[in-house]
Amino acid sequence: MKNLLVLLVILGVVWYVRSKTRRPPVARPPEPPAAKGSITMAACAHCGVHVPAADLVKGQHAEYCSAEHLRLAEPG
Ligand SMILES: [Zn+2]
Repeated sequence: MKNLLVLLVILGVVWYVRSKTRRPPVARPPEPPAAKGSITMAACAHCGVHVPAADLVKGQHAEYCSAEHLRLAEPG
């Protein structure tokens, strides 16, 4: 009977400690360093059109607005 009491006390302490050290449920994902609401634009190396940096097609030497301009500027 005493062992059971000790076990319950240990479980209670463990539960208490865990509840105290648990992180808050509201975990915000890390935000990118770029300011919110602004999109980084970059110019196509072939035609000069500015497109969002995320939409750029990366070539060997530069970045382009589309795969077509990548093919035209860097044949092969
Ligand atoms: Zn282009």
